[in-house]
Amino acid sequence: MIGERIERARLASGLSLRGLADAIGVSHTMVAKYEKNQATPPSQVLILLAKVLGVRVEYFFRQVEVHLEGVEYRKRTTLRAGDKKKILADAEDQLERWVTLEQFLPQAWALEFRVPNEVPERIEAADDIEAAALAVRNVWQLGHNPIPDLIDTLEEQGLRVLTIDGDIPQKFDGFSAHYDSNPVVVVDKKWTGDRQRFTLAHELGHLILHGRLGPELDEEKACNRFAGAFLAPRDVVLKTLGENRHWLEFQELALLKQEYGLSLAAWIYRCSDLGIINQTTTKELWRIFRVRGWHKKEPGKPYPNEKTRLFQQRVYRALAEELIGEAKAAELLGITLRELQQCRHMECASDAADQ
Ligand SMILES: [Zn+2]
Repeated sequence: MIGERIERARLASGLSLRGLADAIGVSHTMVAKYEKNQATPPSQVLILLAKVLGVRVEYFFRQVEVHLEGVEYRKRTTLRAGDKKKILADAEDQLERWVTLEQFLPQAWALEFRVPNEVPERIEAADDIEAAALAVRNVWQLGHNPIPDLIDTLEEQGLRVLTIDGDIPQKFDGFSAHYDSNPVVVVDKKWTGDRQRFTLAHELGHLILHGRLGPELDEEKACNRFAGAFLAPRDVVLKTLGENRHWLEFQELALLKQEYGLSLAAWIYRCSDLGIINQTTTKELWRIFRVRGWHKKEPGKPYPNEKTRLFQQRVYRALAEELIGEAKAAELLGITLRELQQCRHMECASDAADQ
């Protein structure tokens, strides 16, 4: 039991067996024995392990253990196996905290994600994808306006969103998986908000469209179309930009990016998909885009990244109702008892609030 936890925390911190061994001053074969439960680390070693791995000692004794199933990375992921393990370990640790919290506060994550009945059974063409995105918006009562906080919106619908501190190459594009038949989506904490949001909306697309698409539709492309349609519904786009345009100003798109949390590139796709600009204009916009290197880094102010607040809020709710004590709350939030007490007095160090 402790062994799996040591291994998971080690993978999540990106350390090798030897790296961890050196940091705590034992041999790497001893660390391997700890991880295989062939040896039990004495308490002073546990304290060192916790310190080096950035977890609290209680973490090693947590009762719940979860495993994500059916992990699917986005198509072009070229992640190294080690990075994948690290991301997975971090995601499973976060999920475990949710499951632990649920033991004390069963309402913590009561909602189950379901595809609204209003989504058509068969989706044969792009128009059907637009309609599916609108159906979801309607059932979730989102109106047609920009969605300010996509992570919260999805979490309220029972989709479990985990943000991990990847600290790995750019190639990671998020992934989806299942836990206990509930869908889980993982994105990187540090990405720009527009990238996080597009990935989340794309993964939502998979959940909504999977098994409904006609043979002529490619699922990846369909999910991209869904993401655009979900984040910026057709009617508002046509109203905002006009139905037929000869050219688009990049500054115009930059303003829309701030409003909708959709990248400049996604706006060009959206306008082309909706027939607002023709192929020639689209090509010319892309040409300029590439010449200026904007396909690598978009110009102007990045859209602020999103943060999950639901988990923290639920922990404080459990604390307020005395369902858990301060030590448990601190453990769940991944902060020290002292940091928790500061937060309770509304004197949070900003990184403690961000955990
Ligand atoms: Zn996909």
